[in-house]
Amino acid sequence: MFLSKSKYCRAWQCPKMLWLDTYRPELKEVTPADKARKTTGNEVGDLAMGLFGDYVEVTAKKPDGGLDIPAMLEHTRAEMAKGTPVICEAAFSFEGLYCAVDILRKEGDGWAIYEVKSSTHPDKTVYLADVAYQKYVLQNCGVNVTGTYLVTINNEYVFDGTLRIEELFNVTDVSFWLPFEERNVPGLLQTAADVLERDTEPDVDISERCSDPYDCEYWDYCTRALPKPNVFDLYRFPLKKALDCYYDGDVSFEDLIRHGRVSNMKQLRQIDFQLHDKGTFTDAAAIRGFLSTLSYPLYFLDFETMQLPVPKYPGTVPYQQIPFQYSLHYIEREGGELKHKEFLAESGPDPRRALAERLCADIPKNVCVTAYNKAFECGRIKELAATFPDLSEHC
Ligand code: SF4
Repeated sequence: MFLSKSKYCRAWQCPKMLWLDTYRPELKEVTPADKARKTTGNEVGDLAMGLFGDYVEVTAKKPDGGLDIPAMLEHTRAEMAKGTPVICEAAFSFEGLYCAVDILRKEGDGWAIYEVKSSTHPDKTVYLADVAYQKYVLQNCGVNVTGTYLVTINNEYVFDGTLRIEELFNVTDVSFWLPFEERNVPGLLQTAADVLERDTEPDVDISERCSDPYDCEYWDYCTRALPKPNVFDLYRFPLKKALDCYYDGDVSFEDLIRHGRVSNMKQLRQIDFQLHDKGTFTDAAAIRGFLSTLSYPLYFLDFETMQLPVPKYPGTVPYQQIPFQYSLHYIEREGGELKHKEFLAESGPDPRRALAERLCADIPKNVCVTAYNKAFECGRIKELAATFPDLSEHC
């Protein structure tokens, strides 16, 4: 068996996930958001290396781009022997169990593990599982582990133009929370070994674990035999409730109606329209009511924003929504032509001032503006008004 800390965490969420990753990875549905999260995680990890001052990074690559694990193990041993105070990506291996510690820091007569996450919340159980696995590997390699910490993003950090990573990151001592997950490590390692030995897929049913802590990329595969549509397609039907129906055998829309599992009007209407081929439901009265509140000239606004884990622009905080583009359609009079204006910021500088000025120029005061997600667009406009008070009277 070869297990890394990420594979251990996959097995922690679901042993079948580990098996599919190993033998049927082509079934995984990786979204662009998953890829972006990974990139963000790598960027944050690289930045956090400097959290405790000078450090030695032991990452080594083979000519094919993969990790050169033997070289990393050797380099780690050498740096620890020298007593290097901070070693990043410190590598350890014990009986097929491998881990690279994000930051390994000399602490008295032992070493402390720092696990870096790009999240703003340190209180996720899977993070404890991750640290517990690393502690297990290190202890079995003969390392005296004297501390265990999570490094997460401080979402209250306001960037003032000079990045202070000691303020950007929160360090949480998780030693007190760790024993439960530590106790689970040997059992889970046995489960992982058993699963990886199988040449057939393990029989694991869907459960709340499929989306906790992360949405599983094999959901479509694991639910492929269910009738379509099914209880998991119901509009805003909580997963726990849907799973209860599923375990009781009430999966299809027919089952749900026959056994009285749905009482919400919107969900009942969804099932009714689907089962009776009624096409699309249109609430004409509600639409008429909404349209009667509009007046010309009429503007249709849509922002695009970015969220940076490490803030780049003075006055912003990690993961703040920064608008950098908008699309604006408008109709000046009833029956008039639909026209379009747009803004796209230059890459690099803070886009907000230029965007706010153009928005003020493109939308006259006191006109009717609509947006698909009113709360989101209003939120961004209020933030721009607070940041640029000289433009705020235009709101
Ligand atoms: S969808 Fe659920 S059951 Fe299937 S592999 Fe993922 S977590 Fe496991």
